[in-house]
Amino acid sequence: MEFEPVIGLEVHAQLKTQTKIFCGCSTAFGAPPNTHVCPVCLGMPGVLPVLNREVLAFSLRMALATGCRVNMESRFARKNYFYPDLPKGYQISQFELPVAERGEIHIDTGDSTLRRIGITRIHMEEDAGKLVHDPDRPVSRVDLNRTGVPLIEIVSEPDLRSPEEAGAYLRKLRSIVRYLDICDGNLEEGSFRCDANISIRPVGASAFGTRAELKNLNSFRNVEKAIAYEIERQKEVLLEGGAVVQETRLWDPAMGRSISMRGKEEAHDYRYFPDPDLLPVVVDENWLAAIRDALPELPDARQERFCDAYGLTAYDAERLTADRDLGDYFEACLAHAPQAKLAANWILGGLMAWLNAENRPIAQSPVSPEHLGQLLGLIDGGQISGKIAKTVFEEMIKTGQDPKAIVEAKGLVQVSDASELEAVVTKVLAASPDEVAAYRQGKKKVMGFFVGQVMRETRGQANPKLVNEILQRMLAE
Ligand code: ADP
Ligand code: MG
Ligand code: ZN
Repeated sequence: MEFEPVIGLEVHAQLKTQTKIFCGCSTAFGAPPNTHVCPVCLGMPGVLPVLNREVLAFSLRMALATGCRVNMESRFARKNYFYPDLPKGYQISQFELPVAERGEIHIDTGDSTLRRIGITRIHMEEDAGKLVHDPDRPVSRVDLNRTGVPLIEIVSEPDLRSPEEAGAYLRKLRSIVRYLDICDGNLEEGSFRCDANISIRPVGASAFGTRAELKNLNSFRNVEKAIAYEIERQKEVLLEGGAVVQETRLWDPAMGRSISMRGKEEAHDYRYFPDPDLLPVVVDENWLAAIRDALPELPDARQERFCDAYGLTAYDAERLTADRDLGDYFEACLAHAPQAKLAANWILGGLMAWLNAENRPIAQSPVSPEHLGQLLGLIDGGQISGKIAKTVFEEMIKTGQDPKAIVEAKGLVQVSDASELEAVVTKVLAASPDEVAAYRQGKKKVMGFFVGQVMRETRGQANPKLVNEILQRMLAE
């Protein structure tokens, strides 16, 4: 029997506001435990939460960027549960009336068909604290610095059909929050967290199967691996005549498998009710319009522009625009480089290879976009060959110097002087009479050998175009 996977993701994005969602405490990461706390975020009785306006503004940016319908009036609700990192005994979240609903984002699945993935809802909520487990003793402590740090939860429709699509969706979502500058999108550090809901059904069936929810997916690799594992696990259960149970499972990255954590709660288990301490959230129309006007160019639009304006392939344009900083780097480079395609090749090739190996973001590139653009200008102007440019580039990475200075200091300027090159060609041809004879008898392949010899004689600095011309001419004589 053939099965089809059905996947929906719930993503929690930590918002980059200065202060928490309902109090003035700092959201800065890494402070000593329990120093960024006050009676409000500690959940003391009798305190009154007040919504941070910036949290709403950030949520609205995300809502508009994902084509959601904004609810001009939404509500906060209490989600009741007991856990040691939740001093109030409830989390302030949104339930029946979230800030936004019914959007979509587009993902590229690699076969050039665009897939639309529905966004069910976006809601605002507060984060809980953190349990810190002592590695040496059977003791856990609680750090409440994170209680009240603002989150948005973005819930997708069950529209995803493979681990790869789930990965592409998550990458696109992360790209968008980073373009909007509302979240730093770091899975490893937990500022961007993903739970995956997975079920399978016989191909052709219309009803969904029972889903399991996967938690602890703290890298893109783990998201895709864990979903693939879960699909296989459910297939085995069904093929053995069993039934999938609705439960929450924990992914163990070291073991490469998931284990059952707990039976899945239903919404009614949380006894949601409107928070009586918080007023309904009313969005002012003019304010919303101003937020819409101030939205930056988003990855999809930028990708299209890169294709149209610079003649890039969709593939290159997608890679260059996935990260806002990378797209900015490319455009800054173009201010100095004559050819967009050449710039794209150098950035996505040599530069990214080096940065990835060093595990550095583009913002920490030792080669500035201006310098890379100047290097490409030297190639384009015929001052250096592409091969010499690689040597110069390596030097630029090491020293951060500008390419002209390196070319001059190392005497790497391309030899484009015809009489100088003619002398070298004469020498090379005189030294290889057999090859010359072979060439003249029609073995045109020997040309590569002659070019190689001239390059060796000139330490790679001969202008290859000119060398070819001179060789053709002298061999024809
Ligand atoms: P809960 O908080 O109970 O997990 P949510 O509504 O927050 O509920 O999230 C449900 C998620 O599960 C959504 O992303 C939705 O698309 C997905 N989902 C719902 N039903 C299924 C199913 N049968 N198979 C896979 N995913 C599902
Ligand atoms: Mg859930
Ligand atoms: Zn506080």
